[in-house]
Amino acid sequence: MRSSAFSELTELQSIIIDGAASLGVRVVCEVKAGEQSFPVYVVTLGNPDPAVPAVGFFGGFHGLERIGSEVVLVYLRSLLVRLRWDNVLHKELESVRLVFMPLVNPAGMWQGTRANFNGVDLMRNAPVESREGVPFMIGGQRLSARLPWYRGALGAPMEAESQAVCRVVEEELLARRFSLAVDCHSGFGLHDRIWFPYAHTALPIEHLSEIHALKDVFDKTYTAVQWPVGLGGKGNEGVSAFVQRIPGAIGYVEYAYAKQNKMAHALMQNAAGNFVGPDDLTFKAAAAGADWTKSNFGEILTNMAGKDSWPITGATFILMQKLQDKPAQATEVLKFFDWAYKNGGKMADELDYVPLPDSLVKLIYTSWNNIKDTAGKPVWAGK
Ligand SMILES: [Zn+2]
Repeated sequence: MRSSAFSELTELQSIIIDGAASLGVRVVCEVKAGEQSFPVYVVTLGNPDPAVPAVGFFGGFHGLERIGSEVVLVYLRSLLVRLRWDNVLHKELESVRLVFMPLVNPAGMWQGTRANFNGVDLMRNAPVESREGVPFMIGGQRLSARLPWYRGALGAPMEAESQAVCRVVEEELLARRFSLAVDCHSGFGLHDRIWFPYAHTALPIEHLSEIHALKDVFDKTYTAVQWPVGLGGKGNEGVSAFVQRIPGAIGYVEYAYAKQNKMAHALMQNAAGNFVGPDDLTFKAAAAGADWTKSNFGEILTNMAGKDSWPITGATFILMQKLQDKPAQATEVLKFFDWAYKNGGKMADELDYVPLPDSLVKLIYTSWNNIKDTAGKPVWAGK
């Protein structure tokens, strides 16, 4: 039987022994992994009074990404060492509760897999469904535990580790008037960043302004750290540079960019079960399958029905104000789009984009009747 020891768990257990006098410790679940069993620990420090605010530190959701666990463990160890001599820290801990869950997925970390022992990606293991279209596969899938990003079977209870996280958040954090949860994660791409993830809707989250204020404090306090914003690789160019430089890397760039730079690209399986390549025919097939009236043109073209549809097609959108206080300007703008629809198709083709289907262009012209001046007169009278 392979040893169940690994360095992060060993360090956590050593912290628990060394800190016995000041730490609260409990095992919130036991994870079975074949013949092995791993405890998932919660460690608490500071004032248990529910009236004081709490900060939760979580790490180790993905067993392949060890840095989050290590950051939480190093912080916890440093607090423990300071407790021996630092009276200011003792004073601070009277007015705050600290909650640590440094190793959410011990079996995954033991195996060196992203998922837990059941093959479930704990970051995607929730009964909540997204209200938006999510990226194919990486947005979570219910096809098979053999593929990455598996969410678990539809309707199945959440994994034991996920349930434990929810219990800890509910009992230790949400029970307080003020609390903050920090997930220390390896992140995405090649740079560290602060994320405000909120997976199931694109609507702005509550407390956005407070979170932004917190980020502002961070930026002003840690001036030596340059927090990068945007994608790990900047734009198509950055992403493709990384992909070409890193062996085994897979990236997602615009078709025109992949084609013009002669990058290797993959076939993908579409909703109809066919493997198709990216080209203008498969993009057109995806656009043709969309019902543009249903969503007031806000169609997400990923994973569209149709045997030839490229499953990760995206449309470009232009937003116009319905009420125009400078109608002459709006008319000029629409004249330009009118010109583009009538003359731009060939240029779009040459640039490896796909012109909109005729049926859709007709719908767009009809929608222009809704763009009006302040007297209620449509700004577009042409045809
Ligand atoms: Zn991760």
